[in-house]
Amino acid sequence: MSGEVYARVRDEVRRRADRLWDVALTLHADPEYAFEEHRATTLLTTELDREGFAVEHGTAGLPTAFTARAAAPQRDAPTVALLLEYDALPGLGHACGHNLIAAAGLGAALATRAALADTPGTVLAIGTPAEEGGGGKVTEVEAGVFDDVDAALMFHPGVYDWQWAPLTAQAQYRVGFHGRAAHPTGNPTEGIDALAALVQLFNTLAVTGRRLPAGSHVQGIVTHGGKATNIVPEYAEGLFGLRALTTAALDDLAHDLATSAEGVARATGTRVEVERAAQGYAHFRDSTALSGRFAAHLARAGIELTPPAPGVYLGSSDIGDVSNRVPAIHPFVAIMGSDGSDHTPEFAAAAASDRGREVLLAAAEALACTAADVLLDEGLRQRAWADHTDHTDHPGPAHTGHTT
Ligand SMILES: [Zn+2]
Repeated sequence: MSGEVYARVRDEVRRRADRLWDVALTLHADPEYAFEEHRATTLLTTELDREGFAVEHGTAGLPTAFTARAAAPQRDAPTVALLLEYDALPGLGHACGHNLIAAAGLGAALATRAALADTPGTVLAIGTPAEEGGGGKVTEVEAGVFDDVDAALMFHPGVYDWQWAPLTAQAQYRVGFHGRAAHPTGNPTEGIDALAALVQLFNTLAVTGRRLPAGSHVQGIVTHGGKATNIVPEYAEGLFGLRALTTAALDDLAHDLATSAEGVARATGTRVEVERAAQGYAHFRDSTALSGRFAAHLARAGIELTPPAPGVYLGSSDIGDVSNRVPAIHPFVAIMGSDGSDHTPEFAAAAASDRGREVLLAAAEALACTAADVLLDEGLRQRAWADHTDHTDHPGPAHTGHTT
């Protein structure tokens, strides 16, 4: 790829720098939460529409999702998608920096299209609501939004400079025990204590938890524990958050939970219902071919990305589901030191700081250059897909044979 293309792409980002920062600050000053990001959607789609993208609202049946398309002049041309997150955290505003994700994705989509106006290929800007709760991307994947996409690109601000994100699989299950109400002393032999069964399940999980594979974890809370102290609880309910390094390990963990709950029910004479309570997320698989390009482009801004520290897992995200469907990247670029943390007021401040602006523009340029690579470099697309189809059961690089 000639350096001249990259220079053109970067130039298109730089011409829009003030506008992109303005978008980032506008989002930051007006935080909206999962599936209610109406003003963010309007702001972003207005910018895309203004530069000739065809905007579809309500993608995948989600009112605050959108797809903006700058279409290919040719059939069978490649498609690159920039993913825009824009939800905030209740009470904390943009403490996960999604305002920077949105502005960088916007800038990269606009710059790529402008710089490669005559190149066959489609640039998509996909608005992905409710990353923090609800998982808009999961619904979009299921609706086929990524079916014709060759690569899905985004970056995430963070406290580390990491080429890919160690994100695990996650799900929540509701477990309800049904017993029988009775007076605890009046007719104690009639009662079947559902809460005692739930407590027993917690005890059982504490034992089985000791032999779970690395990265598998269960955290439970009690959501219903009875109504009064003079009634044996006839119903008790817990909510269990499950995490595992891979989606397959998560399925095993969910199976273990159900087996334990059924065993406890049999032992205590209760009846139990186990059901999935919320949208789960798959683990993230990095496209090494693509994240390597992103890292090389970002290095020009003086930011060096490394693989994540071994053994560190940063939670879960709906990018996991996208990454199991198409080659995807989700690098972290630090907007504050690694002694800090996202989901804090300090991180929210960093998302509107000078450092935040520098990272936004550097990431937008690197994303745009990577998007240009996807459209122009057929060999890269083939490598990304070959890696993607390779079976792997580990989070991280989709192709385990690569080192970075
Ligand atoms: Zn986030």
